Amino acid sequence: MVKTIFDLYKNGTGYIKIARHLNNQGIPTPHNYKLQMGVNLGARKNLLLTDKWHPDSIRHMLKDEVYIGNLAQGKRRNISYKSSKSQAVPRDKWIVVERTHEPIIDMDTWNILQERFSGVSRPQKSNGEIQIFSQKVFCADCGRLFRKKPAKNKYGQVFNYLVCKGRTNGDYSCNNIKAIPYEELENIVISEINLLLDNHYNQEILAHEFDSESAGKDEAGLKIQALNRELDTTRLLAEQKQKYFKTLYEDKIKGLISEQQFTELNSSFRSEVEKLEKRIDIISEEININILKQNKRQDKNAVLQKYRNIEKLDKNIIDEFIESIMIGRAEQKRQVLIQWTV
Ligand SMILES: [Zn+2]
Repeated sequence: MVKTIFDLYKNGTGYIKIARHLNNQGIPTPHNYKLQMGVNLGARKNLLLTDKWHPDSIRHMLKDEVYIGNLAQGKRRNISYKSSKSQAVPRDKWIVVERTHEPIIDMDTWNILQERFSGVSRPQKSNGEIQIFSQKVFCADCGRLFRKKPAKNKYGQVFNYLVCKGRTNGDYSCNNIKAIPYEELENIVISEINLLLDNHYNQEILAHEFDSESAGKDEAGLKIQALNRELDTTRLLAEQKQKYFKTLYEDKIKGLISEQQFTELNSSFRSEVEKLEKRIDIISEEININILKQNKRQDKNAVLQKYRNIEKLDKNIIDEFIESIMIGRAEQKRQVLIQWTV
């Protein structure tokens, strides 16, 4: 199942589509899988978030070294002792132990994907000019980058092309033989972005006319509210348990209960508090996920609002709209698959 997710992404399927695919197939999330296997996860009432696959969890999985057999720890640390809030730790400060278990994902696939992730924030200049598709275009056949390459046509005019890295510098290992003219790709991308913008505004208008109530509905926001309420209740319950422990201890001092009774009650009390604390951790994590979602939703709206119709591409537009472009073989109709950031 993990391998399927990596393969889907490698072949150009975006996070949203992967999540939808897994949900449609009824494939259990790692959390539900544990439940089915009878692993006790404590008293969990709110399964709303964890019984469905979410794009964020896919993104998370694709970067998780656990699937190549490494164990990384210390990715987050608590802001203060006894606070449920935590913050991300920079990658170079993680504690990574390599080869702790059998890898599920081969290193080739892993390296190709990580190269792709790191490329997203790395602009590159070739011949002094900014290559707007830099680190964005990949081969649907082998997953490697498509590179810009100038070539002359039969009239001696110079044209720019993009071609798979596996078809350059004497490397002919890839079967995606044909280069794609730069201009052709530009035109495809422009029309796809405009289609996306059209859709957005149509939907906005439709939503406005027919259902102005639910159009602006902030699902993540509602979940955050519900989770915060549950967090409060759980914290209160944990506090009450602490108080109960105090009276238990006093009863023991006063000789109202025996040493053995105290030991028994105390151990059951401890496991209950532990469960509550675990639950508090889980809720906090779910709140964080939803805050991320909420931010992304706002980002998406901001980006789509900024543009109406695009006539020419530049690096900013590419970075705002496009995560990656996968170019298929040109045997029949050439497939150009765009993964959107919005
Ligand atoms: Zn290739």
